[in-house]
Amino acid sequence: MRRFADSIADHADELGRLETANMGMPIGSSTWCANAAADVIHYFAGAIDKHTGSTIPVAGGVDMTFHEPLGVVGLITPWNFPVLMASWKIGPALATGNTAVMKPAEITPLTTMRLGELALEAGIPEGVLSVVVGTGNEVGWRFVEHPDVRKVAFTGSTAVGKRIMAGCADQVKRVTLELGGKSANIVFADSDIEKAAATAPYGVFDNAGQDCCARSRILVEAGVYDRFLSLLEPAVQGVKVRNPAEDDAEMGPLISAKQREVVSSYVEGDGVDVAFRGVVPGGSGFWYPPTVVLPTSTQDRVWREEVFGPVVSVLPFTDEADAIAKANDSEYGLSGSIWTRDLGRALRVSRGVEAGNLSVNSHSSVRYSTPFGGFKQSGIGRELGPDALAAFTETKNVFYSHD
Ligand code: NAD
Repeated sequence: MRRFADSIADHADELGRLETANMGMPIGSSTWCANAAADVIHYFAGAIDKHTGSTIPVAGGVDMTFHEPLGVVGLITPWNFPVLMASWKIGPALATGNTAVMKPAEITPLTTMRLGELALEAGIPEGVLSVVVGTGNEVGWRFVEHPDVRKVAFTGSTAVGKRIMAGCADQVKRVTLELGGKSANIVFADSDIEKAAATAPYGVFDNAGQDCCARSRILVEAGVYDRFLSLLEPAVQGVKVRNPAEDDAEMGPLISAKQREVVSSYVEGDGVDVAFRGVVPGGSGFWYPPTVVLPTSTQDRVWREEVFGPVVSVLPFTDEADAIAKANDSEYGLSGSIWTRDLGRALRVSRGVEAGNLSVNSHSSVRYSTPFGGFKQSGIGRELGPDALAAFTETKNVFYSHD
């Protein structure tokens, strides 16, 4: 695994270019993702000898626990962060002694196939990590149905995740799900409003908003709502939407014509109030501008559903309790941000918001060494960090008699 991780880092530029060509992610982000994938594999290589069992005091002997591999695990990833999502699953699956069969999304298979080659070249034995490409219904569903596959680790949409969970129930198959999100970015009046507004676009428009952690609901304390919007406008217009192969591109096009239709249906289709927009280049590409909309209420479709594109909704709130209530008024609970200078409030709101990954005065809540996963319909189980290993093992308890 160490050699595999080193090889990914050595090939980070190649993997980055491949990812950008395949899915349109800006080259800076895709190269960052490839290097981050190497870090993930290194982290789990280092975790192998730290996932220890325990001895438990009992009468008449010794009691000990072992964390045993599940066997064959099926790993299914989405198209929005192919190489990174692959590493999140491959790392803990192999570190705990399983063999893995991985299926990337059918429209973005290239970097995962390359990872499979690099694993073989690094000395991971043939059959320990297999990459199989194809559609979800054909290849992915086989993982659900086949009795030799003992667990499915899935990242993708909530709708497909529910089907997989129901399918796995038939064999009581282990399942972890990383699903959709509609995360809140809560801005209190006492925060550094300039910084909150300047960074808000990057909390939602990263990867053209095709990010499960996108902070796509901005909640602003009523007293600073107008000021926040006036600061947000130049920040949104300053997002560098470019050919993703250009080094300074901050946002590229959407992945497909279909995705652009979906995104557009939330704005043009529903005739929502567009406050302002960023600029996109002309020419080919499924461009959609960074867009800020003002819903009429928390019942609007654009406020409630995951758009998975560069669209952010802004609503005011009255006080701390209202902010928490509005943030939690969602079937999702993946991520979110809280902007305040009040330490007590930061802690109270962090504890009050029902989401798995929060950041205070920042939009950075994902690290390979810390657990990642969703509350409510954003998922089940945790990836990354020390918690990930438990999801790929069974605990066996053995009593060893003194007699
Ligand atoms: P998707 O659910 O359409 O597809 C995800 C994967 O599942 C693909 O590989 C697909 O081929 C496969 N699949 C589809 N139908 C299947 C079936 N019946 N059986 C088995 N596998 C099947 O999702 P997508 O459009 O590729 O990705 C976007 C979604 O992923 C968004 O909702 C996003 O929020 C979510 N996502 C979540 C996280 C997270 O960590 N929580 C991360 C990235 C993306």
